[in-house]
Amino acid sequence: TALPAPAPTFDPHALPPLREVIARFGLDAKKSMGQNFLLDLNLTGRIARSAGSMTGITAIEVGPGPGGLTRALLATNAPRVIAIERDRRFIDALQDVVEASHGRLTIVEADALTVDPEQLAPAPRAIVANLPYNVATPLLLGWLARIEAYVSLTLMFQKEVADRLVAKPGSKAYGRLSVITQWRADARVLFNLPPRAFTPPPKVESTVVQLVPRANPEPAEWRILEKVTAAAFGQRRKMLRQSLKSLGDAEALLEQVGISPTSRAEEVDVAGFAALARAVQAREAANPPCP
Ligand code: SAM
Repeated sequence: TALPAPAPTFDPHALPPLREVIARFGLDAKKSMGQNFLLDLNLTGRIARSAGSMTGITAIEVGPGPGGLTRALLATNAPRVIAIERDRRFIDALQDVVEASHGRLTIVEADALTVDPEQLAPAPRAIVANLPYNVATPLLLGWLARIEAYVSLTLMFQKEVADRLVAKPGSKAYGRLSVITQWRADARVLFNLPPRAFTPPPKVESTVVQLVPRANPEPAEWRILEKVTAAAFGQRRKMLRQSLKSLGDAEALLEQVGISPTSRAEEVDVAGFAALARAVQAREAANPPCP
């Protein structure tokens, strides 16, 4: 059988420096679009390589901006790179990269919140992105809901969000986002970056996190798990028998799944929340709400 053709080699340094591209196209950073650029190609190379082997995998990038990470992704074995950018100014600036990619790079002008990457890129696919922080969490939640469609997500977040994604029970950062994320994915921190790595520097530290779909997530319905975690962490200092009152007969529910009614949300692991969600679902199925 024929081996797949290797991806053509791409030299990120062969194109004009990113600072030059920014000056030539007048690409001053817009705060409203979460624009903090990575202009050091060694750094973008590090991020792209941290995604793991891209052989045979379509890379999806959200927010290519001036294209530092895009170039680095083209230097991996990814046969194709699909970059979704909302700010029209970058589309022209990226044309040089498109040309140098020999057909491997496609730029899609769109709001990543409204596009379905599965429609744009064939499987196997992986997302690698330095996310706009103002929409990072809604973007992640959208991808998590269909995480099985991806080999991995390698994403830059502000550190405080990254801490929540990987937080374990008993820690301050552990909350709804931790439970929903770790229910669907194995999430791990790859490395941190200081504000000065970016132009302009954001106010906060940043962290690259990798998320890989979990092989056997506990059965639960997304909508119900959201409802249960919202109730539990909405009053995180209270005992669960109190905070889950809105779900109706919280004590019975908790006893049914073997969680102490006097414990607090922070002490319950992902498996515990999934069991609670299944119990709520079973109850809803037995007593459907009036039409
Ligand atoms: N990848 C570039 C880098 O590392 O230098 C830029 C990263 S910057 C943090 C975020 C990028 O996402 C910007 O290019 C911005 O225009 C783009 N962006 C912001 N909101 C977006 C959205 N809703 N959909 C697609 N791209 C978006």
